[in-house]
Amino acid sequence: MARYRIQFVASEIYPMAKTGGLADVAAALPAALARMGADVRLVMPAYEEALDRVIQPRTLGVIDNLLGFENVRILSGRAPDTGVPVNLVDIPALYRDGGGIYLRADGTDRDNNAVRFAALSHAAVELALGRGGSTWRPNVIHCNDWHTGLVPLLLKNVAGDRPATVFTVHNMAFQGQFPLEQMGDIGVPAIPAVLDGLEFYGRGNLLKAGLKFADYLTAVSPTYAREIQTPAYGHGLEGVVADRAGTLRGILNGIDSEFWTPTGNRWLAASYSARDVAGKRLCKRDLQRELGLVEDDNAPLLAFIGRLSWQKMADVMRDALPQLLKREPDRQFALLGQGDRDLEEGFRKLAMAFPGRVAVHIGYSEQQAHRLHAGADILIHGSRYEPCGLTQLYAMRFGTLPIVRPVGGLADTVIHACTTTLADGTATGFHFAEASAEAKLEAIDNAVMLYRQPLSWRRLQLAAMSSDFNWERSAREYLGVYDRLLPHDSDISGAGMDGVRAAREIA
Ligand code: ADP
Repeated sequence: MARYRIQFVASEIYPMAKTGGLADVAAALPAALARMGADVRLVMPAYEEALDRVIQPRTLGVIDNLLGFENVRILSGRAPDTGVPVNLVDIPALYRDGGGIYLRADGTDRDNNAVRFAALSHAAVELALGRGGSTWRPNVIHCNDWHTGLVPLLLKNVAGDRPATVFTVHNMAFQGQFPLEQMGDIGVPAIPAVLDGLEFYGRGNLLKAGLKFADYLTAVSPTYAREIQTPAYGHGLEGVVADRAGTLRGILNGIDSEFWTPTGNRWLAASYSARDVAGKRLCKRDLQRELGLVEDDNAPLLAFIGRLSWQKMADVMRDALPQLLKREPDRQFALLGQGDRDLEEGFRKLAMAFPGRVAVHIGYSEQQAHRLHAGADILIHGSRYEPCGLTQLYAMRFGTLPIVRPVGGLADTVIHACTTTLADGTATGFHFAEASAEAKLEAIDNAVMLYRQPLSWRRLQLAAMSSDFNWERSAREYLGVYDRLLPHDSDISGAGMDGVRAAREIA
């Protein structure tokens, strides 16, 4: 039997479901763990698209009653590409009603998210305890974000043998807050210590439940792990996190560098690599043509890819764009994103106001994201906060240099171009400190100035494209975390709780 038997639970896992970085991580990290010999199984809701994409689903078993839903089927199959086993929790009334993962079809918040993700959490616990047709017993349940916050809480109240829990924070801003009175409906035991654990200003907070009750916490970058212990980034839960500082580790996300690559990428007009970037010029031409931008090899093409939200400073981007364009007549800007309806409208108007120079694609397209990373010269990624950020890592891999605010994972992954780092060839992008249009524009000016010096730019590209953000390194760190929670040879055999506790004391 494998030493690490990990049940990995998430609300979205690529390519079965994706709205953002969580899905990429939930696909790539389990695959990397499996490559290192861990026995990993995924658990997620049976959304329509998940059912369509999962390989060879079959009924594993049935859970008689899950929060009042009867005969809940557990479908077992494999994730496409990686082949990692996946269990889908099939409650059609909750997961297949025509809406999105978190939002209704009209873009507003669903009003049953508490039940939707509580059901996922209960199902994960049932499966881990050998119900729902499962004969496999994990020794660790790896939970992700508020949607799975109930798992550690529920397991804390299980008598006897139970798996250890790791809870990873991908974003502290999303907390899953619901009326306290609703907690009974989602199966929270009416025990004062439990209710206190998830109470937050008179409401039930499922993120807080995860933070309080998990055996170990991780955040998706070292800087973010420190930031969330402070009022500026803790979103009100900084005290809870700070209390757990001794059992919290920041582990940087990796990227799937086989998928996010400019070499042999089926969506690109040409193939290129760090050693030979000639193909990038063709990708840029192809993109300019497709987007209706002026076809000019030398025009600096700046891109924004991501959610149009306050977090990503999309409002500042919109306000700064006319200035950005005015400063030099050949600057171009391409955007791929969706989110806040006002921002979507604002960017659409800008595209109309600057034909040939601004291209705006409102929507979600994996293919288009690859094409933009390859065809652009500079990625603008100015976040107000950023737990890790993947977009800047993808951009670097494609030789597109990121401009970032050095917060969270952006600080940990992008090396600012200054006199020293330019001289020693380590610079991979540009930083700006303040979350303002002026600071952002100044950083853009600096980046464009360097862009116009081809030799210096080439050096930056080479350093960025050679950066190593492979998953293996991060996966090894996660194995280290699991290891602290599991019994060692000298401990009591059978992975009982006493053994787990002993291992924790040793670790
Ligand atoms: P977050 O998870 O906060 O949205 P990340 O940078 O961690 O930000 O991850 C965002 C992921 O979602 C990346 O894979 C990015 O390419 C992708 N993405 C975001 N918006 C879009 C979009 N409109 N079209 C295609 N991919 C997108």
